[in-house]
Formats: sequence, structure tokens, C-alpha cells
Amino acid sequence: MAKKQFKAESKKLLDLMINSIYTNREIFLRELISNCSDAIDKRHFMSLTKASLAAEWKILLAPDESARTLTLTDNGCGMTREEMENNLGTIARSGTREFKEKEKTDENLIGQFGVGFYSAFMVADKVTVYSRKAGENEAYKWESEGADGYTIAPCDYADTGTQIVLHLKADDEDCAYGEFLHEHTLTRLIKKYSDYIRYPIVLGDKTLNSMVPLWRKRKSEVKKEEYAQFYKDKFFDYLDPAQVFAAQVEGNINYSMLVFVPERAPFDYYTRDYKKGLSLYSGGVLIMEQCGDLLPDYLGFMKGLVDSADISLNISRELLQKDRQLRAIAVSLEKKLRSELAKWLKSDREGYEKMYAQFGNSLKMGAYENFGAKKDEIKDLLLFASSADKQVTFAEYAAGMKEGQENIYYASGPSVEAIKALPQVEVFLDKGYEILCLKDGIDEFVIKMIENYDGKKFVSVADKDADAVTDEQKAELEKKTEDYSATLSEMKEILGAKVKDVRLTARLKSAAVCLTSDSDISLEMEKVLRAMPGSEGISAARVLEVNPDHPSFARLATLEPSDGKFADYTLALYNAALLQENLPVDDSAALAALLIKLL
Ligand code: ADP
Repeated sequence: MAKKQFKAESKKLLDLMINSIYTNREIFLRELISNCSDAIDKRHFMSLTKASLAAEWKILLAPDESARTLTLTDNGCGMTREEMENNLGTIARSGTREFKEKEKTDENLIGQFGVGFYSAFMVADKVTVYSRKAGENEAYKWESEGADGYTIAPCDYADTGTQIVLHLKADDEDCAYGEFLHEHTLTRLIKKYSDYIRYPIVLGDKTLNSMVPLWRKRKSEVKKEEYAQFYKDKFFDYLDPAQVFAAQVEGNINYSMLVFVPERAPFDYYTRDYKKGLSLYSGGVLIMEQCGDLLPDYLGFMKGLVDSADISLNISRELLQKDRQLRAIAVSLEKKLRSELAKWLKSDREGYEKMYAQFGNSLKMGAYENFGAKKDEIKDLLLFASSADKQVTFAEYAAGMKEGQENIYYASGPSVEAIKALPQVEVFLDKGYEILCLKDGIDEFVIKMIENYDGKKFVSVADKDADAVTDEQKAELEKKTEDYSATLSEMKEILGAKVKDVRLTARLKSAAVCLTSDSDISLEMEKVLRAMPGSEGISAARVLEVNPDHPSFARLATLEPSDGKFADYTLALYNAALLQENLPVDDSAALAALLIKLL
């Protein structure tokens, strides 16, 4: 019989697996057992609508010292020939891509990643799989001695389900593979890795696992490592979770939840490819692997499961989406998770900030989307950088406001340093005001959506009504504006369509000029919007603000508008303002020529 080849990426992984010097070989058992358990989950679910498929669920372990084989048998859903071909001949898992990227840098990855079925080759030089799909008559045998390929042929396997026979490698200086045939080794490994598996794992006449699902246990009864192991197994992460939320919720609707916050955002998290969702169980039976309806988008980074006896087992996926109980769980869960986040923020600031660096944008989106429908529920979970060089919540900002300070001030820019260097910011910092530094494209949109916090308005430092200026200064400014009205209108004439207005400001101290916007779209928002397709024509109403007390303006004002220098100075000031705002200049060659001319 001709051998079939593994798909290219599987072959690569297999090579790694077989030749790996990885020491933690024992995880093969955990991987294979969890496949058995998944397969039983599937048949269990099928049996709900087809009673003839019901059985007494179990996973059997049978070591045979004389044949040097370890056999695992489950009475799960089994596989058809095609499924064997597809599932065992390739690695279909989404983690594969990530694996391939990381493989070069981290040798230990094989053990950290759930690489599933292939891990059998870490301990076996030959693997034989017999399987009969539930409800089918034919059984098939799959066999492989490693990277050179595999065979599939019909066979007479009488039971429904799957049997995997591992022909263990000969002992060598690296590893005594024969130990995986000893009862005490197997018992230890099952206790360590698979204790929470919900079906009995039987060796001889003994059941090795305690079978209480992890999420039914109290959080205090479960070790941190157990949660971490469960998380890594189930969600194919190689890092421990950053946080575990576990609870039994009782009330209008009863459910257990076990939810994890990953340490790092998956590489595709902020893309359309990412699929959010929690696994949904009913009374311990898996109904749906990834139920998107259980999580709002802004908490989509969380992984985990919900188990509720209140959900009807016989429900189809289409109906599930409309199910009232499911809606009720989703509502309750969202609230619960928000309050867990709030607790986290209070009790472990450093950990929360680390999480926020990964998923903060997701939370901000939550406050923004649907016209801010959830902004009040989410606003206290948000953090923003502040001019005091730390991250602050709105509440912390409000508590630190100076006497007489009415508004919450913010400024946008690429970094806190760049924002603190903005000319408009200087007078605020001089007064001892803290400034929220908006660094992400989405930030200003979120702030505008939230509008105010605790009655305090969010005001941009670029806003002409920002109150850093006293009434006295305002009066003085009005007078100067009158005095210089001719100069200002000449400047505006020269700049033409580039600006909506040129005016004097009392808000600048050492800087000569700044650029602000007179419309609802700020310069920073314009940058974000411009990066999106279909945004032509969207622009901020630019205003060039000039510091009347700056020597450059004093010089300009002494010139006759007919003097060529008047136009040169005006353009130089305008371009300087663009550069300060990190905006592109209109014509860099012309600007360069102008600078040289002015020397
Ligand atoms: P994963 O379990 O992450 O999908 P594996 O490499 O462990 O990846 O397994 C690949 C696939 O092979 C499984 O998804 C499943 O469809 C099938 N499979 C593996 N073991 C069994 C089993 N004992 N019974 C039925 N199907 C199995």
C-alpha cells in the first residue's frame, strides 16, 4: 500500500516533534486524553437527539509491557476515513501559523503549545489508530512511523470510537520511554494534567481522575497552575493567562463561568479574522465550542466557558441565538466581567495596566461603539496617559484637579513627550493642570463620545474657549486684535484656502504660533479619518493662532504687506505651526527654499 505524505507544514512539525530534545515528553498523554474527551463530548451531544448513540462514556488506558505498547481507547464520536485523512494528516489548528512564526525563536514551544495528536511521536516510533465513526459500519486503520508518511486502510474494529496504539520508542539516555507503561507513572500524569476531564479515565479496574470539572470547583480549591494548565490546553496558548475569573452565579439565571484574560493579544485580535466567544456547556455537556453571543465585542479578548443547566440541551444553533436564557446569561455575564475588571483595577494596578496595554483599545471601542450606548458602564475601566507621566482613570484625574479648574483638559499627539511640547499645552502645565494625553487614533473619538465625567467637561487645550486665560488677558487680547486687524487680514489673504482664519491668542507663552481647529473635527481626528478610505473632503477647519507678544510677530507687524518679506514670514509661521502639530507641510521643496532665503 502506497504511503501518503503529510501536508508540508505537518511534516515540519513532525520532524521537530520526533527530533526534539524537548524534555517534557509526558505531555503527550494530556494531549491524547483531551482528544478522547472532546470526541466523547461530541458523541454525547449527538446522543441527545439520537438515543441509540448513548453509551457509558469512558476512556481506557492499557499498557502492555511485553508488546511495549500503550493503548488509549475512547467511545467517542470516532472518525470516518476522510476525517482521519484530514485530521491526522494535517494540522488544522489555528495556532499553527503562530507556531510557525515562533518556532525559530523558542525551542520549548513544542511542549508549551498544544500540538495535539502529533505529540504521540515524541514517545512513539509507530502510531496506529483504529476508528469507527458513530453511526457508520466501516472502521479504518491509520498508521504512521513518523515523517515519511502514513497509510489508511479498512479494518475490523468492532466498537464505535477510537483506539490509539503507541509503540513506544526504545529507552535511550534522554528518556526511559518504558516508564510510560508503569501504572504509577500513568496515575501521576493523569492526576497532574487530566484530573478535571469529565469522563472516567480507567486503568484496569481503577478510575484515575476525579472528574469534577474545574469550573464547578470553588476558586479557592483550585491551584493557579491547574487553571493555567486548563487554559493552555483548551485555548492553545503557550503563556499562562494574565487573569482568571471564576464564579458560580445564582439568581434569575444560574450558571458557572470560568473566564480567562490572555497575557497577550493574539496576533489577529484587532482584525476581522478574530472570532470571539466562550464555550457553552449545559450541565457539563458541551453544546457549542465558541458561542459569540456570550461576549460583547469589547470583551472579545476573553476566553473561557459558561455552564448552565438552564439552557435547553436540545436546542439547535439557529434557535440558540434567539434563546432567552442565553440572552439572560450574556447580560449577566457582561456585568459580572465588568465588575471583575473594576476589582482588578483596584487591587492590582500593575497587572491591570499590563492587560490594558494589550486590550485597552478594545475597552475604549466599547465606550465608543453604538453611539456610546455603554459609555457609562465602561468609562471607569479606561485609562489614559497623563502629563504627570502615569496612567490615570477619569476619577483619578478629577480628584487631582486644581482649585478653580473646571474642565478635564486633553491634548492629542503621538507621545506624551510630543504632547507636552505642544505650544498650547504650556500655559496649562504652568498652572499645574494635568493634561490627558491622547496617543491612540481612537482616543479623541472616545472622549468626544463620553462628553463629560462627573459633570466635568472634556475640553481640548486647542479649544479657543479653554479657560487657561483670565478675563484681563481676554480684554487685552481684544484690544490687540483691533490694533492688528489689518496685519491679520493680510496674513489670511496670503494663506488663502489653507486656513479658515488667522487670529491672535493669549494662550501661547514661549511659542510664536499654533494651529487649531474651529470645527468639531480636530486636527488629530482629521489625521485618523484621512487614513480611512472614503474620507476625502473631511477636514478640520484650520485656524492659525498667533502669539502677539512674540518677537517674530512684532517684526512681521512692522513690515509693509507689499514688502515680499511679509509673505515669507507669514508662510514660515504657518509651516512652523504645521510641523509643531506633526502635520505634513504642503510643499516641502518650497519650504526648504523659503528657509534658505530667510537666512
Ligand atoms: P485538535 O484536537 O487541537 O483539533 P489534534 O492534532 O489533537 O488537534 O487532533 C486533530 C483532530 O483529530 C481533532 O480535532 C479530531 O477531529 C481528530 N481526533 C483526534 N483524536 C481523536 C479521537 N480520539 N477521536 C475522534 N477524533 C479525534
